Amino acid sequence: MKKMIKKQLLDNSPLVRSIIEYQEVCWINEGKSELPIAAIKEVNIEEAIKRLQRFAPVIAEWFPETRSDFGLIESPLQKIPLFKQAMEKRENQKFFGNWFVKSDHQLPISGSVKARGGIYEVLKFAEKLALEKELIDQKESYRKLLSPSIKSFFADFTIIVGSTGNLGLSIGIIGRKLGFQVVVHMSKDAKTWKKNKLKEIGATVIEHDADYSVAVEQGRKEAEKDSFCYFIDDENSTHLFEGYATAAYRLKEQLHAKQIIIDENHPLFVYLPCGVGGAPGGISYGLKKIFHEHVHCFFAEPTHSPAMLTRLYTNIKNIAVQDLQLDNQTEADGLAVGKASEFVADHIGSFISGCYTISDHQLFCLQALLFEAEKEYLEPSALAGFYGPLMIKAYTEKENLCEKMSQSTHVFWGTGGMLVPEEIRKKQLDFGKTML
Ligand SMILES: *Cc1c(COP(=O)(O)O)cnc(C)c1O
Repeated sequence: MKKMIKKQLLDNSPLVRSIIEYQEVCWINEGKSELPIAAIKEVNIEEAIKRLQRFAPVIAEWFPETRSDFGLIESPLQKIPLFKQAMEKRENQKFFGNWFVKSDHQLPISGSVKARGGIYEVLKFAEKLALEKELIDQKESYRKLLSPSIKSFFADFTIIVGSTGNLGLSIGIIGRKLGFQVVVHMSKDAKTWKKNKLKEIGATVIEHDADYSVAVEQGRKEAEKDSFCYFIDDENSTHLFEGYATAAYRLKEQLHAKQIIIDENHPLFVYLPCGVGGAPGGISYGLKKIFHEHVHCFFAEPTHSPAMLTRLYTNIKNIAVQDLQLDNQTEADGLAVGKASEFVADHIGSFISGCYTISDHQLFCLQALLFEAEKEYLEPSALAGFYGPLMIKAYTEKENLCEKMSQSTHVFWGTGGMLVPEEIRKKQLDFGKTML
């Protein structure tokens, strides 16, 4: 069966041949329609924003680093002109527009984009339990959640999740803080320091000698056995998606504050590293709701794990990169996913502009280049987006955007890095520098 999939696809497509050879490719979404986003299944972002507001006083109390944003978990939007210059020099070509990094590698609490979706879903679950038990009231301050009695109430419940690392970390940190038991099923790509950090805070880590899809499956099975277990389903969760989508509204405010205009003549390009698809999917969904056809969202994946690209290009449900005999081996642990979320593919297939792939070699080059230019450290996964302007030429021509490029804005989503230990950073950067 699997051999057949490969053969059929090869017969029909030069792009698949390149994917199978682990070459860097860019797939443009020919089926993109500019349907009003409301025509796509509704996701309630306004509710999510209000929910995060209700929890803000509690978050501010527990995590002092969020106090400057009054308990909101937010990251800055930073201009990166020196990186742009460095790229121009490296590629010997001119790039247009304003370049920014959306610094989710600095997100408070867990230092990755998962602090948006993961923490949000745990809060939503905690709120539901506490409201049902009448321990809190939506009209009163949620500071009641700080009391030890509520913590011991939550201790009867177990939150289970499958993760390549960062999602587990986000859920572990907030889950334990609230008092929940937390069990994280880790794929074999997960880095040791991420597992250790979780064990330190009292989460249970179950290590699988298998990839992400297996880790998720095991977690799902375990949760089914017990009604006091709550499974956070990275492959199917609307809650995670809502949490991620709120980022779009924050980005809108940040662009506005910098007097950056996005309209017909000022296109916005956003480049998002993609694993299973939840984070880039939720963010893009929110962005489309706000900026409509003026925003162009690209998903970036490792050449060894192009799960979403393969899913959207072939339009075969549940296809995995292993079906094309790819090995799903990458140093970009956050993106080491063989099979994209069907839920996300369904929500975003009609409007994303495209997907491209990047080699691990380039991830390390870009990591060193960005660090040298801007003194920003991001983990390897988070560099995938920074390749975008190199990959979208055909797209800008096809969409007649060339003349508008000098007035364009480019946002690279910096998805993780803050918690990476110093000795690992140094090793990676030294390695990348040798390749510049
Ligand atoms: C999880 C993750 C992503 C991608 O998010 P998905 O929801 O899996 O698509 C990107 N970068 C980093 C660092 C991550 O941890």
